[in-house]
Amino acid sequence: MWQAVLERPEKIIFREVKKPVVSDNEVLIKVKRIGICGSDIKAYYGKHPYIKCPIVQGHEFSGLIVDRGKAVRSLHLKDRVTVRPQLVCGQCYLCQQGNYHICNELKVIGCQAEGAAQEYIKVDESLAVKLPEGISYEEGAMVEPVAVAVHALSRAGRVRGRKVLVLGAGTIGNLAAQVAKALGAKSVAITDLSDYRLKLARECGIDHTINVNQVDLPSFLEKSFGKNKADFIFECVGEAETINQAINLARKGSDIIVVGVFDEKPRLDVGLVQDRELRLIGSLMYKREDYTRAIKLMQSKKIRLLPLMSRTFSFRDYPDAYKFIEKSRDKVMKIFIKI
Ligand SMILES: [Zn+2]
Ligand SMILES: [Zn+2]
Repeated sequence: MWQAVLERPEKIIFREVKKPVVSDNEVLIKVKRIGICGSDIKAYYGKHPYIKCPIVQGHEFSGLIVDRGKAVRSLHLKDRVTVRPQLVCGQCYLCQQGNYHICNELKVIGCQAEGAAQEYIKVDESLAVKLPEGISYEEGAMVEPVAVAVHALSRAGRVRGRKVLVLGAGTIGNLAAQVAKALGAKSVAITDLSDYRLKLARECGIDHTINVNQVDLPSFLEKSFGKNKADFIFECVGEAETINQAINLARKGSDIIVVGVFDEKPRLDVGLVQDRELRLIGSLMYKREDYTRAIKLMQSKKIRLLPLMSRTFSFRDYPDAYKFIEKSRDKVMKIFIKI
């Protein structure tokens, strides 16, 4: 079978390897769709702090079960599945407490372990999650980013009836805003520098969209949210400017959930965190229940994914997908590879 390897930054090669053979607790998946996300793009340019070349990418994917080990009970041949790409030790303090998603030895399939950019991949039964009828392979490949958003919301606590500000209208920011609405937030505002991404956010039903290049954010926020501004702020960019925006905009006693991945080390006004009694809350990946909730939200049609699906490339055109992303910059959201 063929696999695509990111051999070094900006260089994807195809190589022929043996088809994997399942052991007792594993399923073999014929990969159908891979989604490319922001961290893949950072890794492609050699700029991701935790991903090194050479790597077979692909951590957002869906496929069809074509073989299973003899101890597998919960999944069957021809089941359509997505995969929670977390390899954990099961032994460390965090794993023992059920916080395996922040395991000390965490490896992510497609980031620090071989990913789905190949015709077949085998995974432990516990990582595969069955896709219900009516969820397409494209949607299946988007369960992962939706689960990132679901987990970020679970870190925030109860948003029902509250006001939520999301900084960054990329895929994760958009989905965080949509999940906040789906969970009953009273009002949700989202910011970006790209009118295109903000237009998509409107198509997805987000209440307020703000281009911070054109509008003064603090006054807009007061106008649309009132003088108590936002109860929760989600930082979904990972840059000094946006995390500082979050801290500066936060009213007293509000929560900031940090979802963006930072490659630089920003200077922060921690004095405001203390004085305003802010809570800075990190959010990493998801747990299995976030996958289940993500799929339920998708099934209930409370989340609109179609506006986020930009384009699909064939497996052989994998390198072209990255060229397209580079060329299109802020005119592109989710790109899929069809295998
Ligand atoms: Zn991702
Ligand atoms: Zn562990």
